[in-house]
Amino acid sequence: MRLASCLLLAAAVSACPAPKSSETAPPMIRGESMPVGGMPPGSHAGAGPVFGGDKPSLPSATAVSATTPRVDELPPVFVDAAERLTAAALGRTRAWELLAVLSDTFGHRLSGSRSLEKAIDWTIAQMKRDGLDNPRREKVMVPHWVRGAERARVVAPIERDLVILGLGGTVGGKVRGEVAVVESLAEIVTRGAELRDKIVVVNQAMPRFDHARNETHYGDTVRIRGSGATEAAKVGARAVLVRSVTANSLRSPHTGALRYEDGVKKIPAAALTLEDAELLARLARRGKTTVELSLGAKTLPDSVSGNAIAELRGRELPDEIVVIGGHIDSWDVGDGSTDDGGGCMMAIEAAALLKELGLVPRRTIRVVLFTNEENGLRGAKAYHAAHGKEKHVAAIEADTGSGAPRGFGISGTPEQVAALQRFAPLFDGLGASVLEAGGGGADISPLTKDGVLSLGLHPDVSAYFDLHHSPADTFDKIDPDHLERNAAAMALMAFVLAER
Ligand SMILES: [Zn+2]
Repeated sequence: MRLASCLLLAAAVSACPAPKSSETAPPMIRGESMPVGGMPPGSHAGAGPVFGGDKPSLPSATAVSATTPRVDELPPVFVDAAERLTAAALGRTRAWELLAVLSDTFGHRLSGSRSLEKAIDWTIAQMKRDGLDNPRREKVMVPHWVRGAERARVVAPIERDLVILGLGGTVGGKVRGEVAVVESLAEIVTRGAELRDKIVVVNQAMPRFDHARNETHYGDTVRIRGSGATEAAKVGARAVLVRSVTANSLRSPHTGALRYEDGVKKIPAAALTLEDAELLARLARRGKTTVELSLGAKTLPDSVSGNAIAELRGRELPDEIVVIGGHIDSWDVGDGSTDDGGGCMMAIEAAALLKELGLVPRRTIRVVLFTNEENGLRGAKAYHAAHGKEKHVAAIEADTGSGAPRGFGISGTPEQVAALQRFAPLFDGLGASVLEAGGGGADISPLTKDGVLSLGLHPDVSAYFDLHHSPADTFDKIDPDHLERNAAAMALMAFVLAER
């Protein structure tokens, strides 16, 4: 997920051969829950410690209003579906086992990579094995950026390797120069010509997760990643190194897309670990500090990819659609289990659960695993171009990780939101009964703009950005119970939207 895309998005934004391959039988692996980090001592001007200090997440609470009905006041068909889905999710680990296969077999899945295409084929084959209707691949042309070899090190006044990751879409290049450290994009503008020919380090800290407000601070902070290169280039900088967009670090760099601006020189751009950003800030305060940076990144011609699609065909109104999905591509680090392999497996599992339980609703539920969310949104655009004229009654995207279930964010008219909030008690058993206004997802944002009722699955995100776009986004962080209950919550919400 990229910025405006994935989280922020509370409101926000080919001729390909038919799939042939199917792969593998699932290995079974038990996982660990999220590791807990110790906190290094450290008072650092401007930034604070780089790990630790998080509190446990708050328990979810039903967003009840005076008009929220009791469960027994809701139509029996929905109460029955909720009871059966909740019971089915208990102790079940199928979504987690599927994610293990996806992540271990194919690894990370950047647009243009073979691993992405093999993973897409596997998801289609899985949906076929699950007995869903019309499993297929719909062609999408995607950007093809490759990272190449990367290295950065301090060469004066000390010699020290730095841990970096080029930002998605960066140009390659070799640069040696003096470091200038700023703490915001605004400071780049203020210092202006003073930064000419420098390697600008943007050491803006992301505040810790705010449990009381359920606020990640991602939206405020990620601008340094998206716009740092352009702002630094405008004042003549030769390269930019941005502090990774995370509040916690065990020296993991976090990548993500940047945006170059037309007419502004494209300069090399990479993310630093929090630890290395702090090191450079300390060194630069003491005196002239020189860094060497080498990025091997290249942009190749567009590549063929595809959206993976299958349906649970509606029994009365099959031409009316509820989309459920996530994005199958990932960054080229870790294995993309959290962003967004988990969301994709939730959607596959949600449809499979409904089918297994015989909960076939009046309207069609369509699973869409979008390609290229991270660095182009081409899958979203292609889906909208091909299907935007069909009658979509709602769309649900899961792209904010696989934390403990919490609920959904809903973007629609106040009446639509209120009408859906009446169903909140159905989700109590899954721990997913917070139904709040504001939600969606990057991949469904073209539908949202058309006025389609749009929902984001909103699990606990307090640890999400510790992993996001980093080498630490690996399968061992996924909790099987959280994943399964999120899948069941998605199934129940899709059922409500497609049946009511
Ligand atoms: Zn994502």
